[in-house]
Amino acid sequence: MTLDLKNHLAMRGNPCRHYLGFKFNGGSECARGRNLRRLFYKKYGNEAIGYLLKTPCNGSPEPFCNCPDIDVRTDAEVAEKAAKDDAATDKFVALLPKIQKIKAAMIEDGKAAAIYICPNCFAKTLHVRCNIGGNKHVHGGCSECKFGFLE
Ligand SMILES: [Zn+2]
Repeated sequence: MTLDLKNHLAMRGNPCRHYLGFKFNGGSECARGRNLRRLFYKKYGNEAIGYLLKTPCNGSPEPFCNCPDIDVRTDAEVAEKAAKDDAATDKFVALLPKIQKIKAAMIEDGKAAAIYICPNCFAKTLHVRCNIGGNKHVHGGCSECKFGFLE
């Protein structure tokens, strides 16, 4: 399997600083208190689709409204964040074989949670959970170096 995470992450865009992300349970999606989905449905009706493509917060070419408070990051800030994301992706890909060994051991032992040696800082502070009764995904985080993952 080829991992093409960087190309996938290249779709990340440059959302407005006030945008708080999609909220599955409703509520404000904007730090300025705007309920964007409510505004979208008010304009197009409750059955409308395409909200995420038309929100003004993410630089949509066809925004459903014009926001007077749009505040996107500068090119330098975007480049800095992209470099940081790429470094995190590189680290994850480099450590993935060790994460997969942990996952295989948890599945073999039937463990849903355990503490392992962190493949990043080598302290025994990597807290890992495995969806042992379900899809076997693992997620974890190191309380020492803050490395985290979902696989
Ligand atoms: Zn660590």
